[in-house]
Amino acid sequence: MTRTLPHHVDVVVVGSGPCGAAYVRTLSEQRPDLTLATFEAGPLLTEPPGGHVRNIADPAERERCQRRSEGPPRESVSSAPAVQRPDAGPDRRLARAGTHLLPSGYRQPGEDGLPLAAMSSNVGGMGAHWTCACPRPGDSERIPFVSGLDELLDEAERLLGVSAHAFDDAPFADEVRGRLGAAFDAGRAKDRRVAPMPLAVRKHGDGRVTWSGSDTVYGDVSRGNSRHTLFPEAMVVRVLVEQGRVRGVLVRDLREGGEHEVRAARVVVAADSLRTPQLLWASGVRPAALGRYLNDQPQVVFAVRLRDVDAERASVVAGDEAPGVVPQSGVSWVPFTDREPFHGQVMQLDASPVPLTAGDEPAPGSIVGLGWFCAKELRESDRVEFDDTERDAFGMPAMRIHYRLTERDHASLAGARAAVRRAAEALGEPLDADPRTLEPGASLHYQGTVRMGESDDGTSVCDPDSRVWGVDGLYVAGNAVIPTATACNPTLTSVALAVAGARHIARTTGTEEHT
Ligand SMILES: Cc1cc2nc3c(=O)[nH]c(=O)nc-3n(C[C@H](O)[C@H](O)[C@H](O)COP(=O)(O)OP(=O)(O)OC[C@H]3O[C@@H](n4cnc5c(N)ncnc54)[C@H](O)[C@@H]3O)c2cc1C
Repeated sequence: MTRTLPHHVDVVVVGSGPCGAAYVRTLSEQRPDLTLATFEAGPLLTEPPGGHVRNIADPAERERCQRRSEGPPRESVSSAPAVQRPDAGPDRRLARAGTHLLPSGYRQPGEDGLPLAAMSSNVGGMGAHWTCACPRPGDSERIPFVSGLDELLDEAERLLGVSAHAFDDAPFADEVRGRLGAAFDAGRAKDRRVAPMPLAVRKHGDGRVTWSGSDTVYGDVSRGNSRHTLFPEAMVVRVLVEQGRVRGVLVRDLREGGEHEVRAARVVVAADSLRTPQLLWASGVRPAALGRYLNDQPQVVFAVRLRDVDAERASVVAGDEAPGVVPQSGVSWVPFTDREPFHGQVMQLDASPVPLTAGDEPAPGSIVGLGWFCAKELRESDRVEFDDTERDAFGMPAMRIHYRLTERDHASLAGARAAVRRAAEALGEPLDADPRTLEPGASLHYQGTVRMGESDDGTSVCDPDSRVWGVDGLYVAGNAVIPTATACNPTLTSVALAVAGARHIARTTGTEEHT
C-alpha cells in the first residue's frame, strides 16, 4: 500500500516520543478541530503505536523491536561509520538496548566529551525503552519563571499514567525506605524525603504491570482523533521558514522514497536533545544559544545486599510471580535538595549484578542497585555543534560535541560517591569495593540545547511556552528545553513543559491570520 502525505495540516509534530505525543494528546483533547500530523524518522514497533518494549511478552520479538530502534535506517546510511554496539568497535562504549550511540564526534581532543551520547529511532522514541521513573523536580531544579509548574506536573503525571504505589507490596521495599529515611530525611521538607519512586506504570489486578510509553501519552483520545495521522519512517529534514514565520516542513519518506513539502502554520520539533537543535540548524534557525548549555547528569552506581532480611518473608510477600513479573521490584527515591544536590534512584533487584558465591542465592528484592545522579554545572561552552559540509548517517548536518566536567562537577561526583556509600552502609553490605562513576552520557538525560528563558537575551532558544524566539509558529519540546541544572529524571518535567506549549497552540490557533 502506498501512502499519501498531506499537503497541509494545522500542526506538524516532529518526533513521536513522550513529548511529541503530549502535544498530540493535549491538542486532541482541547482542539479536536485542528488537523495534526506526526512525522517520525523511526519504524513502528507496536500496536497501538508507541508501546513500551518491556510489555512485549515474547523475548525474541522484544529484542527485534529493540534492534529496530537502533537506527539509522538502512536506506539512508551514508559513508558514516557503523553504529557501535556494546561489544563492538575499538572503544567498546556501552550502548543500552533500543538506543544507538553517536558514532563519531562525541569527544574532542583534551575534553571529556559525551562518549555515551545515545538516541532511539522508533515510534515512541526513548519512551519505548525507558525505566519510567518520574520524580518531580525540587529546589533549584525547578524552573522559577514557568507559571503554574505544579499544575503542569500534575497534568504530565496524568498523561504518563504515573503512580507511586505500583510496587507497594514489593519485598523489603518498606525496609529499604525505612533505612534510607533514617540516613537521609533529617532536616528535609516533607516532599523531599525518601519515598517510593513515582513510576509511569500501571499495575493490574492479576499482578501484571504495563509500562507507559508514548501509547499511554497518546491515549484513546489521540487514537480516536481522525484528524491526527502518525507517519513512521518519515523524517523531517527541514522546517520551512519564510519571513520569520513557519510555513511547514520538508519530509523525507524513508519507506517509499521522495521528499514532500507539508504546509503548516505550527511546527513542534520534539526530536530529542541532539536532533532538535540539529533540525533547527539544518533549517537555518540558528539562535546564539542553539546547541549550547548541553548537560547530562553525571552518575555513580553501587550495589548492596540488604542485611538482616528474612528470605522466608520475601517469598511469602513476593509469591511465585514477583521475580519474573517485576525485574526491578520496589523502586525507591532519595530526592534532590540544594543541600544534598543528588537524585538517588534505588532499585531492588532479583539477581545480583555482581557474581555471588555458588549456592548463595539472594532473596528476591534483597539486592539493591543504587544510582546517584548529579546536576552538571551549566556552561555555554558545553555544546553540540553542527557541520554544514559533513553529513551524518541520516543525511543531516554531522554533530560534534564539546563537553567538559568542571572542578565543580568533579566535586559533585565525589559528593555523590560519599552519599551513595552512606546509603549503601545504611542498607547492608556493599557488593563492590567502591561506587563506580559512569562515563558522561550514561544518564541518557541530555538537556539544555534548546533551553527556555524569560527573555530573548542570547542565553535561550525559546520562551516559557516553548516558542522559538524570532520564528512565529515554531515550538521545541523535550529535555533540551529544560534550562535548569537538574539531577532528577527529566521526562515528567519535559512533558509538563510540552503541555504548556500545546495549550499555547490550542489557545492561539485560529485567532490570528496564518496560511
Ligand atoms: C534505557 C533508558 C532508560 C531511561 N529511563 C528514564 C527514566 O527512568 N526517567 C526519565 O525521565 N527518563 C528516562 N529515560 C529518558 C527518556 O526516555 C527521555 O527523556 C524521553 O523519551 C524524552 O522524550 P522525547 O519525546 O523528548 O524524545 P525521544 O523519546 O527521544 O523521541 C524523539 C523522537 O524523535 C525522532 N526524530 C529525531 N529526529 C527526527 C526527524 N528529523 N524527523 C522525524 N523524527 C525524528 C526520533 O526517532 C525519536 O523517536 C530513559 C531512556 C532510556 C533509553
